[in-house]
Amino acid sequence: MDKIYQHNKTEKEILNFWLERHIYHANERSDKDAFSIVIPPPNVTGSLHLGHALDDTLQDIICRYKRLLGYEVLWLPGTDHAGIATQNVVEKMLHKEGKTRQVFGRDKFIEKVWEWKEQYGQRIINQLKSLGASCDWDRERFTMDEGLSKAVKKAFVTLYSKGLIYKGTRIINWCPRCSTALADLEVEHEDREDKLYFVKYKFLDNPDKFITIATTRPETIFADTAVAVNPKDERFAGLVGEKVLVPMTDRVVEIISDSLVETDFGTGALKITPGHDPMDFEIGITHNLEVLIAIDSDGKMTELAGDLKGLDRDIARERAVEILEEIGALEKVEDLRHAVGHCYRCKTVIEPYVSEQWFVKSAPLAKKAMEAVKNDTIQFFPERWEKIYFDWLENIKDWCISRQIWWGHRIPAWYCNNCNEIIVSENEPKSCPKCNSTDLKQDEDVLDTWFSSSLWPFSTMGWPEETEELKKFFPTSVLVTGFDIIYFWVARMIMMSLVLTEKEPFKNVIIHGLIRDPQGRKMSKSIGNVIDPMDIIEESGADALRFSLASLSNPSGQDIKMSKEKVKGARNFANKLWNTARFVLNYEENVTNYDISNEDIANMEPEDIWILSRSNEVIDFLCQKLDEYNFSAASTEVYNFIWDEFCDWYIELTKFRMKNHFKDELALKVLFYTFRQSLIMLHPFMPFITEDLYRRLPNSKESITFETLKKFGHSFSSEKLKNMTALIEATKSTRKLRSEYRIAPDLTTEPILVMPDDIKNNFMSEIEKYCFLTKSKAPKVAQDMPTNLKGFAIERDTSITVLLYLEQDNLKKSKELIEKSLQKLLKEFKISEQRLNDPKFLKGAPEDVIEAEKEKITNQKESIEILERKLSFLK
Ligand SMILES: [Zn+2]
Ligand SMILES: [Zn+2]
Repeated sequence: MDKIYQHNKTEKEILNFWLERHIYHANERSDKDAFSIVIPPPNVTGSLHLGHALDDTLQDIICRYKRLLGYEVLWLPGTDHAGIATQNVVEKMLHKEGKTRQVFGRDKFIEKVWEWKEQYGQRIINQLKSLGASCDWDRERFTMDEGLSKAVKKAFVTLYSKGLIYKGTRIINWCPRCSTALADLEVEHEDREDKLYFVKYKFLDNPDKFITIATTRPETIFADTAVAVNPKDERFAGLVGEKVLVPMTDRVVEIISDSLVETDFGTGALKITPGHDPMDFEIGITHNLEVLIAIDSDGKMTELAGDLKGLDRDIARERAVEILEEIGALEKVEDLRHAVGHCYRCKTVIEPYVSEQWFVKSAPLAKKAMEAVKNDTIQFFPERWEKIYFDWLENIKDWCISRQIWWGHRIPAWYCNNCNEIIVSENEPKSCPKCNSTDLKQDEDVLDTWFSSSLWPFSTMGWPEETEELKKFFPTSVLVTGFDIIYFWVARMIMMSLVLTEKEPFKNVIIHGLIRDPQGRKMSKSIGNVIDPMDIIEESGADALRFSLASLSNPSGQDIKMSKEKVKGARNFANKLWNTARFVLNYEENVTNYDISNEDIANMEPEDIWILSRSNEVIDFLCQKLDEYNFSAASTEVYNFIWDEFCDWYIELTKFRMKNHFKDELALKVLFYTFRQSLIMLHPFMPFITEDLYRRLPNSKESITFETLKKFGHSFSSEKLKNMTALIEATKSTRKLRSEYRIAPDLTTEPILVMPDDIKNNFMSEIEKYCFLTKSKAPKVAQDMPTNLKGFAIERDTSITVLLYLEQDNLKKSKELIEKSLQKLLKEFKISEQRLNDPKFLKGAPEDVIEAEKEKITNQKESIEILERKLSFLK
């Protein structure tokens, strides 16, 4: 065993062992109870970021915990084909070679994307493996693989036959850069500075009279088909029905009234352009207005724009403003800050665009999805996310699912070129069922990537076939994800699962926060505060990364402040564990039989009973907290137990027994037993080092995965536990006094311990251990305090009061040391005080820096008070 822990070496070896032995393969025929999670599939283009690392660490903790409880656990991994994102990546690559996808054509281009996937698509999977994700890698899926493609077709055809998918002409969000429709959710709204143009529309019968409208998009005037006012707006009473001329064109349109028009925007009168605005489109339907198109799918002006034809929409806006000014139609221009929609993939400004698309009729699906959460079939943790979920589903609009790109699931619909019949089918039809023509053409569009991921929990297990996997592991138990995809993904999975399988996709949804930097800022490339989890794994190990993520995550789902320093603490813990193992394994040859018999129990020392009882309590606590998905409380408790109680107390005490009763086998049995228990408890959080050390222990199974998390099966007399409590109290108090009065151990006379009779009786048998632990001379044990307390340092926080007599020399030294510390503290306190009274600092410093300064001054005050109290006592 290496003297110093080398995380890179251990983690690599253990990962290979897990993969080679298929340790996490789930058996669908197992008679154990099932527990299952499907991984939120990362984009195949992606690389692991801290958000993934958190999400997957939490899933892994749950899976490993459930395995230790005896469940047959399936954690199903895979990746998403990420339609637009992947197509963009491959197109960019082709651009560098001076080529476009059009040069290749559809089939060749798709081949290129598959080639790209073969080459780069495993990156994130390999990163997940090095994080220690205990997925069933034999069951890895991809949203475009054969089985999942079948499921997508089946889902589409089923929903179409139920009338839940339809094709219609609507105004949709169009990205001119990506050349595709986007769902409402895929549009990001960002505030930006813009102009509001006030434009005069002359009346047909009186060219001196005009009505002024306000618009941010004068380039769309070419496609106006009405001017609208609110029926309640008295300013325009009597004008409804009048005809006006659209500037820059010779079109005559009517002034109409519609209650959708807001009276407080601009002048209260609006130009209506059904082809280029969603609200205008609606008003157009009500009033039967013509839909004209002035901007094409590339974001360029059509011939409707006359001389501006072919211009980019942004340039066309500038030109239109110039023309309006020239013809005297521009009344004024105002500044306007407003939200503008951008493509979530490429950040191009979205163009509302009228086109024929496929939609999922969402309201009936949403109704069932809400019921499932209302009646607790599905529960959110923390519960407050349910409101967000309901809010969206209550106001849901139909979901536009067709995308005009090539990479994705092609829509399983064919058109008859002879009679225009639409044939929706899982398999390619040979002829038109209506007219028998064989002149058929498949829809060119592909499905929204989120359509296939909405089927993920069951499509990955073989749906629509009735597979053994589905029977055993579906519905899944838990879904772990970030709040940012509750709409995109969680809600849609629930909708699709309920309609297609008539079952909920999962029972519990755990929503965690985002990871931020130590100052609470979002991690971003532009700030330069991004931490790459792969760097942390290299520097400190996956175990350390995982442990810090788990201990920082909070059950309220708040955002997490992460820094590399936090990982260092976890890395030190790994060292501590390694060194402990080396100590424990030293004694391997001294134990002949590891079973703890009833006779052993009868002969146990207080510390044996104490550590066994504590380990039982910690197991209870761990299970309770993990069942509540409180990862931070669970990990912190295990950490404290191992470091503080097991290493610092129990091992210290057993060292004493090694020394006095050479090779006390009972102590060694308890030592080995508790160390093994510690590894099992810690395993979900730090799987690599615990697996490595576990496998080195005698009588171990092939993998710690096959262990069971269970308590020591005996109860103990409380008398012996009392001895241990008394010993801990007296030792802690003595150590505290020593450090506070700066007393070197060899300078003291014997301590005096004052305690009530019932404790005193227990304590007498522990005196030897007390001397060993505190390196003290044998103490005087008394029931009452001495009458003269002069020259004593006293600690009376617990039921045992400890007094240490300070001799002349010592007294002087203590006073000097305490005075020195006090002076130093007072100086620091003054600096902090000045800083907090400085208005410049208060105004300029970030909030968390000010908070930290305030906390510092509170702590300083406390320490000063303590030191002053001690000093006065010594004088
Ligand atoms: Zn785009
Ligand atoms: Zn036909």
